[in-house]
Amino acid sequence: MFTDSHCHLDFTEFDADRDELIKRCAQLNINRFIVPGITAKRWPRVLELCQKYQNAWPCLGLHPWWIAKATDNDLIVLDQMIRKNDIVAVGEIGIDGVIEDIDKQTEYFVKQLHIAKKYDLPIVVHHRKSHQLIVSELKKISLPKSGIIHAFSGSYQQAKAYIDLGFKLGIGGTITYPRAIKTIKTVKKLPLDSILLETDAPAMPLNGFQGEINSPEKITDVFQQLCSIRTESPEKVQQAIEQNLLQVFNLE
Ligand SMILES: [Zn+2]
Repeated sequence: MFTDSHCHLDFTEFDADRDELIKRCAQLNINRFIVPGITAKRWPRVLELCQKYQNAWPCLGLHPWWIAKATDNDLIVLDQMIRKNDIVAVGEIGIDGVIEDIDKQTEYFVKQLHIAKKYDLPIVVHHRKSHQLIVSELKKISLPKSGIIHAFSGSYQQAKAYIDLGFKLGIGGTITYPRAIKTIKTVKKLPLDSILLETDAPAMPLNGFQGEINSPEKITDVFQQLCSIRTESPEKVQQAIEQNLLQVFNLE
């Protein structure tokens, strides 16, 4: 069985054929989906979707791209929603070094780390040119549950800093691009017990599919690419990845 450990199934791109998509995934043995919420406005939709599809699991968080508009009230609502619903992680949260207002991003990242700590939940982290900032905040707060560094790209040294803090790395379509030399080299060396698979659909199309809507169905392509990079057998890789997933998320 495969799991897409990060896909935005709630996005409107999937409105036209979401039921069919889930069926097509089942035929490919892709049977679980972790669905991160990105803004307060979208959280109810993520919860609704995960109620409808029993194999979709919700995370709620304020994504750094939309932090400019986020308010303290959103954090209060987040706290309440987590208390009232079965959420598997706080996410997607993080710091994006390419967009503006690193201070507000950091403030909201840290406040959401505290919510994760309060509810004993793992986190799903967005990064871009921000490894140092994120690692330094993670070191300051000791989280009872770690989580996933989503769409990891970077050096082995950067990966190691997260692994040392107990985190796993979400590996997605990036490794299908031959130009991602540094990340591919890192993924080759990573301990197998630190890897999870994800698509980030509908974003981040794989190499050869640029300009198209990405889909959780592509998780099998990411898996094949991962196996071509690793030395272990595909059976061993697949088994390890599902085990890793269950170490991060409580999917009961
Ligand atoms: Zn995402």
